Parts: sequence; structure tokens; C-alpha cells
Amino acid sequence: MDSFSQDLCAGISIKNIYPSNLFFRLLLLFTAIMIILSAGGCSRNIPPFGDDISKLADELFPENKPQNLLLITIDTLRADHLGCYGNKSIQTPNIDALAEQGILFQQAFTPVPLTLPSHASILTGLYPPAHKIRDNGYFILDDHHQTLAEILKEKGYVTGAVVAAYVLNSRFGLDQGFDFYEDDIVPDPNCEDPFRYERRADRAVSLAEDWLSNNREEKFFLWLHLFDPHESYDPPEPYKSAYAQSLYDGEIAFTDACLGQLFKKMEELKIRENTLIVLTSDHGEGLGEHEEKAHSIFIYDTTLHVPLIINAPGLKLAGKSFDFLVRTIDIFPTTLGLMGLAQPGEKYGQGINVIPWLIKDKSNPDLLLYCESLYTQLNFGWSPLKGIRSREWKYIKAPAAELYQASLDPKETNNLYADKTRLAQDWEDQLQKIEKAITSTETTKEAKPKRAPDLEVRKRLESLGYLCAPRKNTSGDTAPIDPKDMIQAIQDIDRGQDLYAQGKLELAAQQFEKTLAVDSGNIFLHYQLGGIYKKLENYAKALDHYRIVLQEQEDYLEILNIIGSVYDRLGKYDLALNHFKRAASLYPDQPRAYHNMGIMYIKTSRFNRAEKSFLRALALSQNNDQKKAINYKCLGDTYLRLEELPKARQFYQLALNLRPGMVEIYLELARYYTAKRQYPLAIPQWEKAVALSPQDAQAHFTLGQCYLLIGEREKARKSLQQCLQIKPDLIQARRFLEKLNQ
Ligand SMILES: [Zn+2]
Repeated sequence: MDSFSQDLCAGISIKNIYPSNLFFRLLLLFTAIMIILSAGGCSRNIPPFGDDISKLADELFPENKPQNLLLITIDTLRADHLGCYGNKSIQTPNIDALAEQGILFQQAFTPVPLTLPSHASILTGLYPPAHKIRDNGYFILDDHHQTLAEILKEKGYVTGAVVAAYVLNSRFGLDQGFDFYEDDIVPDPNCEDPFRYERRADRAVSLAEDWLSNNREEKFFLWLHLFDPHESYDPPEPYKSAYAQSLYDGEIAFTDACLGQLFKKMEELKIRENTLIVLTSDHGEGLGEHEEKAHSIFIYDTTLHVPLIINAPGLKLAGKSFDFLVRTIDIFPTTLGLMGLAQPGEKYGQGINVIPWLIKDKSNPDLLLYCESLYTQLNFGWSPLKGIRSREWKYIKAPAAELYQASLDPKETNNLYADKTRLAQDWEDQLQKIEKAITSTETTKEAKPKRAPDLEVRKRLESLGYLCAPRKNTSGDTAPIDPKDMIQAIQDIDRGQDLYAQGKLELAAQQFEKTLAVDSGNIFLHYQLGGIYKKLENYAKALDHYRIVLQEQEDYLEILNIIGSVYDRLGKYDLALNHFKRAASLYPDQPRAYHNMGIMYIKTSRFNRAEKSFLRALALSQNNDQKKAINYKCLGDTYLRLEELPKARQFYQLALNLRPGMVEIYLELARYYTAKRQYPLAIPQWEKAVALSPQDAQAHFTLGQCYLLIGEREKARKSLQQCLQIKPDLIQARRFLEKLNQ
């Protein structure tokens, strides 16, 4: 791609910066040793300062150290879109004031531009290869890891969290150590898509205020996550009008105003004076730079550079800013240090406590950042991107590797890789060493990556703009496709997603087919196309795509269930059953496959097997009333077919206790009695069915027939009239009515 290799002559020779290559190599060696020591290879704290590190916070707080902690993470917030980071076209007075009275880090970076992995790094102090959360949606943080909340809880703190997007739902494991974890995000009634919701900053702040009011007498830790600057950009008025040219900025300005409210409330509650506030973000936003609209694909500074502000009343260095490189994994140990809670010799994740460099006049701890995005690897089967960054240099490992002199080329437009191959090789070596060090600690080895295969999770994440596709079993780092060669494909996929969301299925399919022509192995596209063709009832085409996905990922629960359901639609029940059986054998704790097996057994009149399957599904659904009700209902259906009427009624009642409006039950019973010509028993069931589902023309029609058969001509006439109001072209109903009127 042109923009990565052009204009090499604009770069300044490395010799102007470093007197000799040898000096630079020594510097690299030193920084590498530092990072390896701090990345977990050594159990002691940073050597130059020894155990005194625990006392250093006293120098920062000549009077009292802050007692409470408020961690604010504003999702998708680029540092350079805040007033305090030099942006002149945005109003962020409240965050600016935090910085003016606190410490601002000019060069703070996240190791990963994805919400869940990045927050996992903030809360554990670990890099993604160590905590093993490599993407949103499918990974769960292992209990084995120690989180900031767990440490503070151990130290007697009350701990609370308010998160504003489903991607941080407690099911993904970040709730470890929190007494209170508010992730119950109510759908927005004004939003057409019921899945497309997030919690707006005003609402999140109000929940945070309630929690603070209730806990102000205690030592507390509150984590507040705000999601507004994340796509889609839709700030409320007056921000929508004031920032019509950049709605992204409008979202940030709105978030800032909400924080202003929160800080005011903290003053009122008299907790502001003893609270340490740490404000940061999980990642930035591409905003079109490097041709990336949002975030997650690339690891340029546009999405890795984040704000980091530390503020507390009584802080000695208030108003200072530091320009050494820090990482969001350093927040954990530094925060504990500032509160005087870091134990000498104890390590907190893979970051370091940066306090010594704030007060000892050591201008630069020479930290290195390891960074990655496995997003396109896990979702599309392309190459992963991994990188290493110092304050001066940034190296990105990719099929076409990149080297930038970040200090002189902050926009990363001038790839020096071809000119500086030896230097690039040095960085490549460092990257390998760091990766090895990151993953070699004991805690890291013991923690297992967990996956959460769940249809609901996928739907909700897609509604927030995250793609969730089955992951490929890729092992090596060098897949042939370089994400930066796939800009057009990424844009096409985005467009296809938009069309899909708008319900324009044929157009979405065309878009995805077009992309598939240049990337035939893209499992995400096959998966999407399978879904679209299934919706379009083109089951043969749907199966073609789903089968390719299954070849790639043989143990993918959802795909097995989906393929089974497509065979069901085609009436090939035994093929469907085979897929559901395989799903059940692979995931014996998941109820859905057993439920589906039961349905197939009913359809093939194997009722005793159906009973067994539904009982198993029921046993696995004990925590979910919705699923329980459905399985009770299916057991009722089964017993009805086994002619065990009392048992059927018993299970139907259990279902109705949980879901009183379950019209399918009345329909089943109505059909049963009608088939047995027991019309006086059928009629009350039909009556309940049409009361619950007044638009069901067929139910009105059959009810009319039943009335007629027991001689209730007037009632029969009414039912048939209602049926024809809904479905005027139902000829049978019209004929019956004509006969009645004769
Ligand atoms: Zn995010």
C-alpha cells in the first residue's frame, strides 16, 4: 500500500539521532532487560529503587494520601481529542481541569485496540497474551488472575463498577473482585433495533452517583466505564448541533459534561477531597487515518494512544505533564503505589509502578510497549498484527513489516523498514523476546483461555458494531494476507454489514459475495452469507456456506445447531439430528442441542426419545426461566402425542406459570381436542388462543368451525367474520360464512 512506503526522503537519518549504531544497540539492550524484568521474569520490583518504592508516594502527598479510588475509562477516546492534549476545537473543561490539577501522561498507550482485551489489561496489569483475552465476545477472563478490584477488596474496600456496553458484561469475567457490577443495560425504547443499545453517559453517571452516595462512608473503589464516543456517533442536543461537523467530538464533549456532574456530586458528598481519580481510555479511533474508520484492525497510534490523567487533591505535582512512554498495564501497580497500598517486593501484573520517575527526576524509564491486534486473524483468517514501541520507534510485524520513527513521524506515514533493515531486525528480535517473557510467567501458564459460545452474545455484540465470527484454528503468525492490503475488503464488509442491518438482504449478499471473490477463505463472509441465504430461504446456498465454516471449525457449537436447523427446514430430519447430536456430544452442558434433538424426535414420531432429550435440556436450563418454559411446553407436546393427557397438562401448566401468555400451548391443546372431535373441550382452548393472538386468522377459522359443529351458529358467524377481516382471501371461510347466511 502506497501510504506505508512513500516519501522516504522526508525521514531524518537515524545517525542524526543516535551517535552510533552501537550506542543504539546498547540502549535497546538496556530497555529490553528492563521490560523483561518488568514483564514477569523477575518477582521483585524495579531494581533501581528497591523496596523504598512503597514509601515514595509519601513524597507525592505531603499531607494525606487519597483513600478512595475512582477509575474512569472512556471508551474509544483518542488522547488528541481532548483540550488538555492540545485540541483547540473541542470543549472538555472538566477533563481539562482534572489534568490541570493533576498529572497528565502525554505518551500513554494501550497494548490492544479492543474493548474487552484492553480493559482486561487495565484491570489485571497484564498484556493480552498473558490474560488471554484476545478479542471481544468469545473470551472470558480466568478466575486465576488477580485484579485491581480483588486486591482492594482484600484490603477492606467496597468495590463497585458501572459499565455502559454489553461487551463488558459480567459474563466475560471482568466482574472479579467487584461487590457491585452494574451491567444490566436496558434497551432504548426510541431505538428500532432492540439489540442496538448502550448506556448513555448521563445514565451511567447517575448510577455511579447513587452507588457513591450509598458507599461514601466506606473506603471505596469505583470503576466507571462510559461508552459514548464509540460508534455510532449520536450525541444528544445541544452537542449534536454544536458538533455537527464532528459528532465523535460531540460525544466526547457530552461525556465531559456528564463527568462534570459527577465531580460536582462528589464535592457535595464530601468524597472528592480524599479520592484518587484515574482517567484513561481503552483505545482510540481511526477516524479515517490509515484508512481505518473505527478501531480494532490496525495497531497504529491512532487507536493505541490514549489519555491518562491522574488527579487527587493534595497531589504535589499538580499541573505537571510527563512525556515518557507509559502503558495502561502500568495503571494497576502505579495506582496501588499512589494509595500507599503496594506491598514491597510484590508484583501487580506486568506493568510497573511509575512513581519513581515522577519524583526522582529520572526523566525516562525507557519502557517498551508490546501491542497486538489478532482481530483480523481470529475473524477473517488474515495475519495477526504484533508490534513493539518505544518512545522513539515503532515496529509492526506483518507480512509487510513496518518501522516508524514515532518521535518524528507521529502519524506513522513514513515506513523506514526497507531502508533500516538491520534496525528493523533488532526490533523484531526484541519483539520475540518480549512476547516470550510475557507468556512465560507461572500465572500466565496456568490461566486458560475460555470461550463463551452463545448466540445471544453474538447478536448483542454485532449490534454494538463488533463482528463475531468463528475463529480459525490458525497457529502460525504468518498467514499470507496482510490486513493493510485489505482496506477495500474491510470497507466492503462494513458496507455489507450496514445493508444487512437495514434488512437489505440481497444487496448485503452481493456485497459479501464480491468480497469473497478476493478472499475466498474468509470464514466470516461464509458465515454471514449462510445467515443471509437462510433468511432468504435459499437453504441450499446457505448450506454451501455453512459447510465451509464447519470444515474450518469442526467443534463450533453454533454452526452445528444452525446447519441442523437448515436441514430441519428442508425436511431432512435425520441429517438435522446428526448435527444436533454432534453439538450435544461436544457441549454436553449446553441445552440448545438437546432441545433441538427433541424437536427432531417429535417430527419423526420417536416420542420416548423426545421426552429424554427435553428432560435433559430442561435440567440444563435451570437458571433460565425462558428456556425452562419452552422445554416444559415441549414436554407437554410430547406427552400429548404419547396420549398421556394428565402429564401433558401438568407440564403445560408449569410452562404457563413461567410464561402465562404462551399461546402455542392453547393452540396445541385446541388442535388435539379438535382432532379427537371433542369440540366442547377444544372451544375454550381456541378461545384463549385467539384472545392471546387476535390476528391468527386460522385460529378464528377453526374456532368458527367448532362452534358450527356444536350448533352455535351465531358465535360461528362472528368467528368467521373475524377471520375474514384478517384474511379476506381465505376462500374456505368465505364459503362457510355464505352457507351460514343462507
Ligand atoms: Zn472500546
